[in-house]
Amino acid sequence: MGGENIIIKGVPVSGGIGMGEAQVLRDPMLQVVRRAVVVSKIKQEIGRLSEASDKTIAELKTARSKAVKAIGEHGANIFDAQILIASDQQFMSTVADRITAEKINAEFAYQETLADTLKSLEGSRDPYMRQMVYDIRSVSERILSFLLGVGEKNDLGFQSPTILVGRIFSPGQIMACAKKNLAGLLTLEGGPTSHMGLIARSLGIPAVTGEWNDGDRVITGNNLIIDGNNGEIILNPDDETWRSFRRIRLRKRSQPFAVLSSTKKIEPICTDGREVTLAANLEIPGPLDSHLSRLGVGVGLFRTEFLYFSKQSFPDEEEQFQVYSEIANQFYPEEVTLRTFDLGGDKYAAEFGNIVEENPAMGWRGLRVLLETPKLFKNQLRAMLRASTLGNLQILLPMVSDEGEVMETLDIIEKIKRELRRSRIEFDEGIKVGIMIEVPSAAIAADYLAEKVDFFSIGTNDLIQYTMAADRGNYRVTNYYMGHHPSVLKLIQRTVHAAHDIGIPVSVCGEMAGSRTMAPFFVGLGVDVLSMAPTQLPAMADWISRISYINAKRFTSRLLRLSTAYQVSRALAEAYDYIKSQKKGAWLK
Ligand code: PEP
Ligand code: MG
Repeated sequence: MGGENIIIKGVPVSGGIGMGEAQVLRDPMLQVVRRAVVVSKIKQEIGRLSEASDKTIAELKTARSKAVKAIGEHGANIFDAQILIASDQQFMSTVADRITAEKINAEFAYQETLADTLKSLEGSRDPYMRQMVYDIRSVSERILSFLLGVGEKNDLGFQSPTILVGRIFSPGQIMACAKKNLAGLLTLEGGPTSHMGLIARSLGIPAVTGEWNDGDRVITGNNLIIDGNNGEIILNPDDETWRSFRRIRLRKRSQPFAVLSSTKKIEPICTDGREVTLAANLEIPGPLDSHLSRLGVGVGLFRTEFLYFSKQSFPDEEEQFQVYSEIANQFYPEEVTLRTFDLGGDKYAAEFGNIVEENPAMGWRGLRVLLETPKLFKNQLRAMLRASTLGNLQILLPMVSDEGEVMETLDIIEKIKRELRRSRIEFDEGIKVGIMIEVPSAAIAADYLAEKVDFFSIGTNDLIQYTMAADRGNYRVTNYYMGHHPSVLKLIQRTVHAAHDIGIPVSVCGEMAGSRTMAPFFVGLGVDVLSMAPTQLPAMADWISRISYINAKRFTSRLLRLSTAYQVSRALAEAYDYIKSQKKGAWLK
């Protein structure tokens, strides 16, 4: 095996470890030339255009129905944007007019019209516009391929585990090869909120975005490892690295359906009998939910903003009411935590207009946005309250940085409750309202905030980025993005103590909650709920059943006295090795 072991830091997009041969797919070089068309053949040329568009629409519809089967209706919504683009009659008649007026071939007329359309959209820095440009490109690539007679070659199949490498992949491309030895995706574009990210996570395909093509470092046929949990890319790994990743990967672990359908129970009980609740982070409702509810797992974080990302428009109150009622029903009697839309920053919503911010992570985000878009906020809160009749829903507010925002929101909720009572609409009178602790100002003021709300949920993804001043999506600063930094640990400790001093529960729902290395710290601190990606649940339950709570408590207080991130990481690594050597479920014997 090659053995250079080149490590590149990328951004994690979809969890799990992918190992396989690289298959580099460069954007196709579609050679379009201008041809003159005689008047008698113009009708035929326009016919070719509509045939290519029909084939593209049919292909997208097939991919959509495959997606419905694999990930459910909500996930499959992401195909609708491309189907709409492919069916755009106005665009098609502009192309047809051009063919007629200029007496030219369909592909050339199509390409010219497309260039005019893209001119105004390209170069935009905002993720929504980038997604839109990408969707248009991806559709037009298919239409042009059909026009040029090379369209039928979209269906990829691989003989051996393969990592698909390219600029970005469309949901259609991913669906077309999802079951055919596709071990992972490595791209230059397409962050966690892109359609690619959404579909990769729903299908359990590891994905990482990073600068893989700097100096053509990745070549088809090279061995490649991607770690979708931390964004690491390893080019040409040596035998030892390959073997050690193979050991930790357990291919099945990254396949959500295989992992969960073969799991009999989730029993996270420490060796001395202490129970830790494990819950799932969800983005869109899907077929995985029935496995989770069968296992008695609740939802610690439902990121409702993905209802927006999957269809690129806001669901109205009724639509949301349906989704929230379904999920409450599905998981009953387990708790379901619905977080209100967390938009802004890297989760850009075009609906708010073309907002350009110098520093979006610190800009108009989360609760700040909701409080300034009262109709949207009220609709969502009303839908959540109306869906709460079973008594297992709770509301979570994102990006809280000041108590004032919390008080204002609680007032809004009270007003909606009064309205509902007046209209004799049922809801859960005792519904709990909690806040995300993900901004250092909230962690520092956790004791005051704890008096105002019913629970805390620690969002470590953002808490790390704001504490360390290291953008969570920027691979240039991943070395600074340290969850194990003593300052981060102290803010988490402060939050947990503040909650427990007043008697409210606290959960952790950032990526750190699913880390086995961090588990003894959270267990030792007494965190009530760890909420993570569904695929991580069985392994975490197993891991917790090897941890002694008393030992973890001692370990945590020692850990909190360490002054450098290096010391913390060494102590965590030692604890990891120790826990690994323990027998699962020892307390039962
Ligand atoms: C977090 O910040 O840790 C979190 C769970 O929220 P999100 O990742 O959706 O920002
Ligand atoms: Mg967050």
